[in-house]
Amino acid sequence: MSKFVLIGSGLAGGLLAAYLGRRGYEVDLYERRADPREGNIVGGRSINLAISTRGIHALEQIGIAEEALQHAIPMRGRMIHDRAGELHFSPYDVDPKKCINSIGRAALNSTVIEAAQRHTNVRVHFNHNCTGVDIDAAVAHLEIANGAVTARGDAVIGVDGAFSSVRQSMQLQINGFEYDESYLAHGYKELTIPPGLDGTWRMEKNALHIWPRKSFMMIALPNPDGSFTCTLFWEFEGPRSFATTKTDDDVRQFFEEEFPDAVPLMPGLIDDFRINPTGSLVTVRCAPWFYRDKTCLVGDAAHAVVPFYGQGMNAAFEDCVVLDECLEQFPENRERAFAEYFHRRKENADALADLAIGNFIEMRDKTASKTFRAKKKLDHALEAALPGKYLPLYTMVTFTRIPYAVAARRARLQDRILYATIMALLAIGIVTVAILLGRS
Ligand SMILES: Cc1cc2nc3c(=O)[nH]c(=O)nc-3n(C[C@H](O)[C@H](O)[C@H](O)COP(=O)(O)OP(=O)(O)OC[C@H]3O[C@@H](n4cnc5c(N)ncnc54)[C@H](O)[C@@H]3O)c2cc1C
Repeated sequence: MSKFVLIGSGLAGGLLAAYLGRRGYEVDLYERRADPREGNIVGGRSINLAISTRGIHALEQIGIAEEALQHAIPMRGRMIHDRAGELHFSPYDVDPKKCINSIGRAALNSTVIEAAQRHTNVRVHFNHNCTGVDIDAAVAHLEIANGAVTARGDAVIGVDGAFSSVRQSMQLQINGFEYDESYLAHGYKELTIPPGLDGTWRMEKNALHIWPRKSFMMIALPNPDGSFTCTLFWEFEGPRSFATTKTDDDVRQFFEEEFPDAVPLMPGLIDDFRINPTGSLVTVRCAPWFYRDKTCLVGDAAHAVVPFYGQGMNAAFEDCVVLDECLEQFPENRERAFAEYFHRRKENADALADLAIGNFIEMRDKTASKTFRAKKKLDHALEAALPGKYLPLYTMVTFTRIPYAVAARRARLQDRILYATIMALLAIGIVTVAILLGRS
């Protein structure tokens, strides 16, 4: 049986190792960090994330969805906090059972690694930092505490995230490798709303909270211990920005002006703001995602997206399902399997990248408006009136496995039909009124 060398045991790396292990392949998984089960939190990334239909489906296929979701918290809609502290709830779907789930990154990471390790043909090596890959020979070079080692396989798969070392090696070694990265002008910082004294949530637990403020926003997702993890998405530079908010008084004043209802719930605000890093938000597009039958990219390594659709991990998990299907379809021709996987995923990853950037504008700006809430109500009314025929874009992306590119095209078509229908009805109304006025 072929041997795969996987670089990166983050969310997708652990899951892919479990899929490949189930198929009987020999798998060596190398991770630069220590074992997350030793309490080493996955630093620098979000503490919790939203998992939805695509991600859950990928976990179900290897029988670990229930285990992974046991502590997840369902979020049924957006809870909008306006500047006056008024709350407006907007459900995600007409069906109240459809929800996204807040899940801890570290716990999910441990679950997928454990699922991989249940296969005796999967070996996980922590504290191994990949410094480069010889992509034609399928050899990875790794630094360890006391030196360097090499790992040789039939293929190397880069599951090493947005700043992938495997992708960098492909960039250096493949003529004409296409690469594009773009950073948002916004960064993010995580802050905490601790639990109440009785260990309960101090805001609505089953919602994703949003404080939309036009050019920036804060969100909060619930955790099982009664706390919320808040993330402030804010400009790096500018008159009011991370760069200009230097003193504790600046921070306090900014939060009191913009998020007055959150401040009393954030006793550690000043320390959190000072201590927690400010992360950047990158979109990565590249092609191809494979080299012969030797090297392949999966997850953020192939297609990092900004987090505003809550789909980066969901898409990375979907990659694992598709790659597994392709390996099943072409068991004797790995290059064909890699090519098919790339063909099926690339267009969808590109579509998701655009959707994610579009949703940033929707979340930070439009969710605050009455028009947005009215459009959501109209969406839900149409979905209920035309079951299976009209599906809002958010529903298709989050609660179905319709490919992202198909969902985006279908939503554009639906919007055009809806617009044309509204215009036609308006025209009929105007003509009717004109006729009635003419008669009187
Ligand atoms: C603020 C924020 C919020 C997010 N929220 C959501 C959300 O709600 N829902 C959602 O679906 N997605 C969300 N995402 C996106 C999600 O985090 C990523 O899409 C997901 O983590 C991708 O998984 P991955 O395994 O490809 O990469 P990663 O999770 O980044 O894992 C990569 C792994 O590779 C390791 N590694 C890196 N380099 C090397 C090396 N040289 N050698 C060895 N190991 C290496 C890393 O240590 C890491 O363990 C969010 C992202 C951010 C930044």
